[in-house]
Amino acid sequence: MTSQHQNTPNREQILRAPKVLLHDHLDGGLRPATIVELARQTSYAQLPETDPEKLGIWFREAADSGSLERYLETFSHTVGVMQTREALVRVAAECAEDLAADGVVYAEVRYAPEQHLEGGLTLEEVVEAVNEGFREGERRARANGHRIRVGALLTAMRHAARALEIAELANRYRDLGVVGFDIAGAEAGYPPTRHLDAFEYLKRENNHFTIHAGEAFGLPSIWQALQWCGADRLGHGVRIIDDIQVAEDGSVRLGRLASYVRDKRIPLELCPSSNLQTGAAASYADHPIGLLRRLHFRATVNTDNRLMSGTSMTQEFVHLVEAFGYTFDDLQWFTVNAMKSAFIPFDERLAMINDVIKPGYAELKSAWLFQQTASTSGSVDSEG
Ligand SMILES: [Zn+2]
Repeated sequence: MTSQHQNTPNREQILRAPKVLLHDHLDGGLRPATIVELARQTSYAQLPETDPEKLGIWFREAADSGSLERYLETFSHTVGVMQTREALVRVAAECAEDLAADGVVYAEVRYAPEQHLEGGLTLEEVVEAVNEGFREGERRARANGHRIRVGALLTAMRHAARALEIAELANRYRDLGVVGFDIAGAEAGYPPTRHLDAFEYLKRENNHFTIHAGEAFGLPSIWQALQWCGADRLGHGVRIIDDIQVAEDGSVRLGRLASYVRDKRIPLELCPSSNLQTGAAASYADHPIGLLRRLHFRATVNTDNRLMSGTSMTQEFVHLVEAFGYTFDDLQWFTVNAMKSAFIPFDERLAMINDVIKPGYAELKSAWLFQQTASTSGSVDSEG
């Protein structure tokens, strides 16, 4: 029997496929059991559950409420247990390990150093602890037969006034584990233009940054992030769909901003499951990623917050394969898009694409082809 989805990868194949992740929050990806242990060790008494399994469910349900503000509330607990050097090293190491076990070969993981100072750490000590954890996680992954490279993005919070200080920190630790800068937090009422000094500083330093924009908020936020702040990538950017009109006959018209984003190949860090939880899309099949992929925007697939969404890169790809019938070629396209859009130097991105990603997909596709040949000859035998 043939089907148009016969080239559709299954979960096990997707798990083995090399994947690249550009938008993942360190404080949104803790293992529930680690939160419980760290809470005990650091005398954090505010957890809503102390059974790891129940706690994991609590996070997903709280994040499922449909509001970005409520979604962001869940972070008080994860950030609450990440206030010591040991906790940060552990969380970062487990993050790298978990991503590697999920088949991620390159990741840029972000966090806001200013949120980890309650235990007396300095901004520098926070960055160094997380870097140490990532290196430890990479080592443990290698010992388990997985290879991953993790770079850090330093995030400044939109509602705070430390963006320039964090941008300077990102610049100081450039080439020392930090690959760029980000700005995050609730979009409404806090336009990125509040932090122009930080973006102008980074541009003068030839450094890279992404901005959370066009998630809960629409086109003005995307426009500001690009045309006022000069963002290299858009964190989410999913509302660019508001500037695209699809007529009844299927013809598509792009507005000026959507055209600009596509023409300039501006990477969209799309996070399907997270968008469903915050109400930015009604279902996977309705998620704008389908149209954006068809129109050849520089679309990438990301997890955002693995704990709150109960997801992984494999899981995100599984959802998209189910919703859109994506093939190995589509998954490779998203992965190459992400690698092209990473903040590490061009030659290193190219090497990852040519030496890791393309061979990885070629192997999976050839295994699939031989499997097909085997099952085809099997059916001929049974008929003849
Ligand atoms: Zn995010």
